[in-house]
Amino acid sequence: MQLRRFLLFLFLMLLPNGANTQESKPQTSKERPTRTKVVLLGTGTPVPDPDRSGPATVIAVDDRAYLIDFGPGVVRRAEAAALRGVTAVEPGNLKVAFVTHLHSDHTAGYSDLILTGWTSGRKVALEVYGPRGLQSMTEHILQAYRVDIETRTSPDGPMRDVGRFPDGWKVNAHEIKAGVIYKDEKVTVTAFATKHAMESYGYRFDTPDRSIVISGDTNPVEVTINACNSCDVLIHEAQPLELLAKMPESIQSFVAKYHTTTEQLAELANKAKPKLLVIYHTVSFPRGLRLPGFFRSKVVRMLSTFRRKCFRKRSARDIRGNS
Ligand SMILES: [Zn+2]
Ligand SMILES: [Zn+2]
Repeated sequence: MQLRRFLLFLFLMLLPNGANTQESKPQTSKERPTRTKVVLLGTGTPVPDPDRSGPATVIAVDDRAYLIDFGPGVVRRAEAAALRGVTAVEPGNLKVAFVTHLHSDHTAGYSDLILTGWTSGRKVALEVYGPRGLQSMTEHILQAYRVDIETRTSPDGPMRDVGRFPDGWKVNAHEIKAGVIYKDEKVTVTAFATKHAMESYGYRFDTPDRSIVISGDTNPVEVTINACNSCDVLIHEAQPLELLAKMPESIQSFVAKYHTTTEQLAELANKAKPKLLVIYHTVSFPRGLRLPGFFRSKVVRMLSTFRRKCFRKRSARDIRGNS
């Protein structure tokens, strides 16, 4: 029953509209509330698709939020989720983040996460975990915004309230290796090396009531199967072959080396056996190309060998109706 309730919550968060009434249904006395929630803040790619923010996922356990990737739009999508009732995702409550790799579509919201999280009330340093290069990226972002930070913390500044949280703009960047990289009373996070165009990691989250694995960008790798191993939720990228066929050859060859096709994901998921498969970070339609019903027909058909429950999220509009 608990798993069913969890899946229902995830499903509701994915719905474009009309979820509020069902989400606010009173619980019966026999049902215990699910402690873990997954919120897809953004499911996009480098393409500036107006319907999808950049990759950003939150795993919320009780009142804690754990962010994976911070693509463009992350903070506004977090606020949208908070307005939908997931208060753990309030921007000022984003204190711990994990980045799968340093491609811009996964990190272009980093300065926003640091600075808007601070001005939204984060009083402690942001803790961020990710591959080599993260510390340098962090130092350069903070240097780029030096004037902003100095102004806001100045006794004469227009936002003296923010200055009361002198540590809120700070960041502790942790460069990681595979293995257990984070642990507190709510979650244990295990990183595993994936295969992408640069150093990259997927993450497994073990919470008191759920196990969740997120792939980041990667070619299919055995370690993802092992990390999941009948986990509750596998969130994995996938690129539909029929759409890729319409792309330039350079993109097709890049995807073949560093991403996962829908057919490959079906094969992987059948071995990993998650109770729920969530597909994200699918390639966007080229401008002018619209194929209504495409994902309902082609992706589901390609994944037809995967017999378990499967979601494919196209739009981040789910959270509030626009992006
Ligand atoms: Zn990406
Ligand atoms: Zn990438």
